[in-house]
Amino acid sequence: MNIHQKLESVLGEGRVKADFILAPYTTFKMGGPAQYYFEAETLDEIVSAVKAAHENDLKLTILGGISNVVISDIGVKGLVVRNRFSNKEMQKEDGKSVLLKVTSGYPISILARETAAMGLSGLEYHLGLPGTVGGALCMNSKWTKPVSYVGDALHSALLINSSGNTKIVNRDYFNFSYDYSILQETHELIGYGVFKLTKMDPQILVKRAQDALEYRKKTQPFGVASSGCFFQNIDGESAGKLIDELGFKGYKVGGLEVSDVHANFIINNGNGTVADFKKIVESIKEKALREKGMRLQEEIKFID
Ligand SMILES: Cc1cc2nc3c(=O)[nH]c(=O)nc-3n(C[C@H](O)[C@H](O)[C@H](O)COP(=O)(O)OP(=O)(O)OC[C@H]3O[C@@H](n4cnc5c(N)ncnc54)[C@H](O)[C@@H]3O)c2cc1C
Repeated sequence: MNIHQKLESVLGEGRVKADFILAPYTTFKMGGPAQYYFEAETLDEIVSAVKAAHENDLKLTILGGISNVVISDIGVKGLVVRNRFSNKEMQKEDGKSVLLKVTSGYPISILARETAAMGLSGLEYHLGLPGTVGGALCMNSKWTKPVSYVGDALHSALLINSSGNTKIVNRDYFNFSYDYSILQETHELIGYGVFKLTKMDPQILVKRAQDALEYRKKTQPFGVASSGCFFQNIDGESAGKLIDELGFKGYKVGGLEVSDVHANFIINNGNGTVADFKKIVESIKEKALREKGMRLQEEIKFID
């Protein structure tokens, strides 16, 4: 049996695609193929994929909404697991709060809308955030007006290690900070998260969520191919403002362009390549250092 056949013998016939083009599934619409690609719909399927990759000595990459990554033009080696494990259930409820278990493939924006409407506070500012609960926890995705991180509302989570073993951890384990969780180093996968949400008037929460979405629409390019903000803010200073001051709005390299709506968004006009992306990123970093003495760091993850 070759590796493809071995993977399918565990994950199901016809379920594993070889040389699968990822670009159409990314928000940046860019990048090469996955060597092997599998869509997992349950926790068992995620665990089986991890074990199959481990046993066949393949690198495993889990992706959710593929909205915070740049995929190499050459593609991604090993097994790419696209997380479609999407479910939620109430675990506990008292007069003031609830524990809501949400699987890692659940779309975070839908969760924000639903929990706001249910009168559960903690995630309402993330309406409009692309991607999944797993990606948002790994990246500790945030909103800035007011400052609110997805990790803030986490109570506990189920993690899967590279051998396929699972464990439950508390929020502290994640060591959350700006754009950071410990999973970026341990490379453990999230199976599900349990969120502690506070009961509040749903009208207030729905308004908060809608205001955040309106602000996004006003200040960010909408309906275009991008990976969101490219660079991290520095000590609370907006990277977008800095890039704007450096005169990069509208700057083009090949098929890529710095948005003229928000300078921290790089837009793919249809035929952008990773080579274009590297040039644009290097030009911005070099000028930021030379003219402002600021070292910009990418927020997005580069996957190969
Ligand atoms: C238009 C636009 C607007 C955006 N706005 C914001 C914003 O306001 N705030 C913000 O912080 N970000 C923003 N982003 C970036 C991105 O949407 C978020 O970081 C999002 O939460 C990433 O989730 P994802 O499922 O797409 O992750 P992916 O891009 O699929 O993956 C990101 C990383 O998480 C890892 N990962 C994914 N799933 C799991 C899992 N189950 N277990 C462990 N690791 C996992 C991946 O391996 C990868 O390293 C925006 C992006 C776009 C395109």
